[in-house]
Amino acid sequence: RTSIVVFTCDLRLSDHPPLRAALRGGRRVVPLFVRDRSVDAAGFAAPNRLAFLADCLGDLDARLRQRGGRLVLREGETVMEVCRVATEADAEEVHMAGDVSAFAIARERRLRRALEAEGRRLYVHDTVSTAVAPGAVTPASSDHFAVFTPYYRRWSAQGLRDVLDAPRAITVPEEVGSASLPERGEVSGVSPGLCAGGETEGRRRLAAWLRSGVDAYAERHDDLAGDATSRLSPHLHFGTLSPVEVVYRAGRAGGAGAEAFVRQIAWRDFNRQVLAARPDAAVRDYRTRHDRWRRGKRAEADAEAWRDGRTGYPVVDAAMRQLRQEGWMHNRGRLLAASFLTKTLYIDWRVGARHFLDLLVDGDVANNQLNWQWMAGTGTDTRPNRVLNPVAQGKRYDPDGSYVRRWVEELADVKGAVVHEPWRLPAQERSRTGYPEPVVSLAEGLARFKQARDRA
Ligand code: FAD
Repeated sequence: RTSIVVFTCDLRLSDHPPLRAALRGGRRVVPLFVRDRSVDAAGFAAPNRLAFLADCLGDLDARLRQRGGRLVLREGETVMEVCRVATEADAEEVHMAGDVSAFAIARERRLRRALEAEGRRLYVHDTVSTAVAPGAVTPASSDHFAVFTPYYRRWSAQGLRDVLDAPRAITVPEEVGSASLPERGEVSGVSPGLCAGGETEGRRRLAAWLRSGVDAYAERHDDLAGDATSRLSPHLHFGTLSPVEVVYRAGRAGGAGAEAFVRQIAWRDFNRQVLAARPDAAVRDYRTRHDRWRRGKRAEADAEAWRDGRTGYPVVDAAMRQLRQEGWMHNRGRLLAASFLTKTLYIDWRVGARHFLDLLVDGDVANNQLNWQWMAGTGTDTRPNRVLNPVAQGKRYDPDGSYVRRWVEELADVKGAVVHEPWRLPAQERSRTGYPEPVVSLAEGLARFKQARDRA
């Protein structure tokens, strides 16, 4: 008897409930990944994520081969390809992970219908891409939590399921053919400092993090130059690490650092339960509607300066340049960049979210769109009046300016904290740097924000 496991954002063998269920009773299994062209059309297929994905698929195939199997890759539309493979392998059942985006929900519905029409069954498994399933904890009066703290209380009290080992052996039916796997080198437009993908790399990073990073996380997570966060986000996004296993192992490590780290994983689950209940929050304001965002030529020029890291505010520009160079940005940088675009330039959060999704290797509809909404003041659990001052924040989270000097080469030789306020340098020295003037004064930005808020 034969089953199919459709891999999506769960590109691993360890702690993989769909794979475990598919193998039961000694079944043959087709481990299938469909390179779905409609994902490209929906704008999710950015070069950095395609390059990371190529690493993940190569590693998944290698790990399957160590166990006597192989990865089957198909190109086309997911529902059609799964049905085609099911016919070729005469598979009775298909297993996959539950997901929360509108795209994934529609795909699951169509797949179920198509398989049932052929007398086959689709099993969708939860706690593959989250530690606690969306909808598993809810407040009394709603289908999801809109405020994090009470969610976190319930989330923490929820027991984790057992962590599953990777299977020892997998038999893949010979009659099912595969397209050749993509190579990272074939993808163009990739950020030069992009990290490596794959389950093997994810597990190595997790072990190193638990050994020598997590203990200091509570004190150091906001230190921009120290780079003292886990950088596990792309692995959690592509599912090369299991959130259940990450929470379990961090919990075993214990201590204040591990506790603060696990709280961030709960934020990830929080955003997913919001998106599962409100899929349109990916594009529409979740709570407060704003329709007075600046538009037109000047706003577009400001947005372009922001994208290029030329706003004239060093810490914002450093963060934006890190994004382009690495396809990743520190969380404090993301907060500052998002506050600057939406509150200081008063430009629609969707403009910023789109740019982040074009470059972030961990670019994720739930985490990206809902964090943008949170900072823009339109989202859940939000403080609409919070405006982050890039100079004060720079001095606080990059006190000696090393983060700015690392990413903004025009300022690489400027000594001390004045690097956060280059306009205070003597005129000659300032003009030698070639660093741009601020696109707007902070006072003007704040006045515009307050005016728009008061009119709303
Ligand atoms: P760590 O600090 O080590 O945290 C561990 C894990 O917890 C992360 O890998 C991530 O999965 C989760 N996490 C951490 N912070 C958050 C948070 N604020 N919300 C939800 N989950 C969190 N994260 C993404 O994974 N994808 C995105 O597209 C994304 N876009 C963002 C956009 C904006 C405007 C902001 C403010 C934040 C965004 N985040 C996003 C959240 C956060 O910035 C990243 O998850 C984090 O910086 C990743 O680095 P890390 O793995 O070292 O995090």
